[in-house]
Amino acid sequence: MENKEFKAESKRLLDLMINSIYTNKEIFLRELISNGSDAIDKLYFRSLTDKNLKVNKDDLKIKVDIDKENKNLIITDNGCGMTEEELDVNLGTIAKSGSLAFKEENEKNEDIDIIGQFGVGFYSAFMVSDLVTVKSKAVGSDKAYRWQSSGIEGYKIEPCEKEDIGTKIIIHIKEDTEDEKYSEYLNDYKIQEIIRKYSNYIRYPIEMDIEKSRKKADSEEYEKYTETTVINSMTPLWKRDKKEIKEEEYNQFYSEKFYDFEKPLKVIHSSVEGQYKYDSLLFIPKNLPWDFYNKEYKKGLQLYANGVLIMDKCEELVPDCFSFVKGLVDSDDLSLNISREMLQQDRQLRVIAKNIENKIKSELESILNNNRDEYEKFFENFGLQLKFGAYNDYGVNKDKLKDLLLFYSSTEKKLVTLKEYVSRMKEGQTSIYYACGESIDKVDMLPQVEAFKEKEYEVLYLTDNIDEFVLTILMQYEEKKFANVSSENIELEDENEKEKIEKINEENKDMFALMREAINLEVENVRFTHRLKKHPVCLSSEGVISASMEKTLNAMESNQGAKAKMVLEINENHEIANKIKTLYDNDKEALKKYAKVLYAEARLIEGLPIENPTEISNLICDFLAK
Ligand code: ADP
Repeated sequence: MENKEFKAESKRLLDLMINSIYTNKEIFLRELISNGSDAIDKLYFRSLTDKNLKVNKDDLKIKVDIDKENKNLIITDNGCGMTEEELDVNLGTIAKSGSLAFKEENEKNEDIDIIGQFGVGFYSAFMVSDLVTVKSKAVGSDKAYRWQSSGIEGYKIEPCEKEDIGTKIIIHIKEDTEDEKYSEYLNDYKIQEIIRKYSNYIRYPIEMDIEKSRKKADSEEYEKYTETTVINSMTPLWKRDKKEIKEEEYNQFYSEKFYDFEKPLKVIHSSVEGQYKYDSLLFIPKNLPWDFYNKEYKKGLQLYANGVLIMDKCEELVPDCFSFVKGLVDSDDLSLNISREMLQQDRQLRVIAKNIENKIKSELESILNNNRDEYEKFFENFGLQLKFGAYNDYGVNKDKLKDLLLFYSSTEKKLVTLKEYVSRMKEGQTSIYYACGESIDKVDMLPQVEAFKEKEYEVLYLTDNIDEFVLTILMQYEEKKFANVSSENIELEDENEKEKIEKINEENKDMFALMREAINLEVENVRFTHRLKKHPVCLSSEGVISASMEKTLNAMESNQGAKAKMVLEINENHEIANKIKTLYDNDKEALKKYAKVLYAEARLIEGLPIENPTEISNLICDFLAK
């Protein structure tokens, strides 16, 4: 029988396993037992829809045997088994467990311990074995095949004898070395310990033949005998009593199932009675899932029907704004052979999804209220997600999410909620003020912000592109409108002040018209202002689209040429005001040049591009040379 080669990427993972210096090699058993359990799930699941397939639920199990003489550890399951082709494809090619992709993404970060944290699958057997044999007979087939490999060189597949459906994996354990005592994997106690440690909640019995002793009948002497014993507790974690579960158990479950090496931020375990009965176990991660911003990332919770996994990522169970939440739902009432289409219409599922959404929301609120530091860290990772959640679908979810949002505050110098902002509003202040820019520092230097600082108003500094859109869709918070400090009609001045500036603007309207023409009518208006203190110019915007929104909209693929309606504002108290007035009277050509430079300056401050940089720099040089 000719040797077959492993696929290239499988070779790499294999190599990683064989030469692993990873100390926690015992997890190989967890991987093989999980595979066995999955195979049993598949068989059972199939029997529910295939009338010709008779499966007795009580017979389903995994058996672990130790053959000390031949130094073999043997794991047998009576699951679906594999055909010749499946042996070739499934074991010759790396599975999609994501470990290799992750490894590649983090190539530079050697510290990340992929073996420990990720389901590395079948190949992990090579951490402890120098010869792996898999005998398998697939359901519906009368032929069995043997797959065998001693590592990198490749593998071979040939027909073999095997009576029952299912898979038997025979692992020949490596010789002990100075550093590594492989022989412990042939020790009953050690193997029992490993099974209880990692596979306790596997839902099928994991049996071992355990040697025991008992008193002989009618005698004081003892005799040894073996008894087949179930090692695992079989109750899945989520079906157990919350009070009896240790934090480490949740954490371990989470990291194994969802491939996260960091403990979850929050575990939400609920058993719901009532109209629909279900258990749910949800995890809010601390970190962004490593593939979160990958196109392939799919939200969803695992869905179990009475302990049997029927769907790995049930999207219907979590809303987009909480797509980072991991976990599962197990309901006794769900039909096992429910199809995707039916799921979407399933009333029960919708009710569960609603409950889950509320639960996540209230947990996040409680973290926000009771553990601010944690929440801020969470928000750093997932805040954007919540903001998109509030904005998307025309804001249908905005009311649910508005209290979970944080923005940087100019006066508090940290992230604050809208509620906190409103509670601090000054007497007579009618709006929630905000300013936009690329970074906190840049916003802080905006000319428009100055006047607000002087009057000691709190301003929210928005630095994410989505921020202003979110506020626009929220429209108001506790009946307070949002107002961009760059917006043209923001009213900081008192009535007197307002009248005064309006009068001055009226007097100079011809000059402004000339200036506006000089900059090709690029702005809606040119005018004087009193709200800039030291700064000479700024751009403000009229209408709903601000300068920063224009920037964001234009960066999007679906760019429809959105344009903010801008106003060029000139500080009437600045020397430049007198200068332009004089030029208007004496040298209109020079005034036109001034208008161009002032407008370019204002655009620069806003972080907007300048259409004619050469012309502007030449103009500036001319002024400098004078
Ligand atoms: P993963 O379990 O993450 O898919 P593995 O490398 O552990 O990756 O396994 C690869 C594939 O081989 C599995 O997806 C499954 O189809 C098949 N397989 C492994 N072990 C068994 C088994 N005991 N019975 C049936 N199929 C198995």
